[in-house]
Amino acid sequence: MSFEEAIKSEPAYRRDQIYLAWFDKNIHSFSEITTLSKNLREQLATEPWMTVKEKVLQTSQNDGTRKALLEFSDGRVVESVLMPRISKKQIPGDRPRYTICVSSQVGCPMACTFCATGKLGFARNLTYREILDQMRYWQQILWEKNEGEVDNIVFMGQGEPLLNYENVKLTLKILIKYAKIGQRKITLSTVGVPESMNKMVTEKDFPAVRFALSLHSALAETRATIIPSNRAGFLDFLVDWTKKYHAAFPSRTHFIGLEYIMLKDVNDDAKHLNALIKLALKLGSIRVNLIPYNPSSCNDAFQGTAIADIQNWQKKMNDHSITCTIRRSQGLDIDAACGQLANKNQ
Ligand code: SAH
Repeated sequence: MSFEEAIKSEPAYRRDQIYLAWFDKNIHSFSEITTLSKNLREQLATEPWMTVKEKVLQTSQNDGTRKALLEFSDGRVVESVLMPRISKKQIPGDRPRYTICVSSQVGCPMACTFCATGKLGFARNLTYREILDQMRYWQQILWEKNEGEVDNIVFMGQGEPLLNYENVKLTLKILIKYAKIGQRKITLSTVGVPESMNKMVTEKDFPAVRFALSLHSALAETRATIIPSNRAGFLDFLVDWTKKYHAAFPSRTHFIGLEYIMLKDVNDDAKHLNALIKLALKLGSIRVNLIPYNPSSCNDAFQGTAIADIQNWQKKMNDHSITCTIRRSQGLDIDAACGQLANKNQ
């Protein structure tokens, strides 16, 4: 009997017991969850404890970033990434901390022109278990070697999380309540799906995780050229939506991240900079994250903006009192950085 079938008619607290067990270091199968009834344990005896199977695991020689090719029961695969966080103030004896980057879909239908995942096409949404199990997979590896804890999760792997809304929402709730990951330690990144963005701010129970928008251009024409899924009027929608977002999540620290990949001669001239500054000032509580372009062998149409020019943008942004950071690319040598997840080891 499948997991969902087996627990369908069970009281709600059974789910609590199972979700808790999924993140318990000392439990390795459904039969070991002693809080469950014997009958339910028997029904779940043949159910896999993990929905992901490791096919390939690579480690970056540069920075220790690890990338796994994971397979699901139907033979489909995704990539998932573990990044050690280099702490600014290293305290001796401190356990290292890790950020993981999870996938939410097999492939991606958005087909952003600069992204290797976009070239894969789309196969299907992941279930909430398949997303959660990426976290459980990495945590298991760290536990086995006593290496530390996953404490930060970004939904920046393969797929568009807001096209898999219900599964992603349930995953977030489970991560916060049962894996005890703080809501501020989780970042949902989207290229912009207006229906789902509206749902997020109208539903009362959407978790207050950090939100990042892959903007990539504040000029509508450019955005439409590099992001085929961009809807007409999206930037105006964004201005309205941001007001609703801040009303729904009123915490002072609940800024929106604007991600901006810097593409040479595409979105990096003075006109684009001015448009970004203007939009950022209009949106209010935001932070800009400039992303150096990560090349991939399946995409040679673009070149990255020189780092000095990216730094110049950062400075200009700071001059307007806009918080602006430059993303550090990790795992480049194993194609594990943003936009490089293309299942090449399949
Ligand atoms: N679909 C979601 C989640 C994927 S996040 C989204 O678009 O936000 C992946 C992040 O990496 C996004 O900010 C994306 O724009 C960025 N990215 C994609 N291709 C890249 C590349 N070649 N180099 C650097 N960043 C890239």
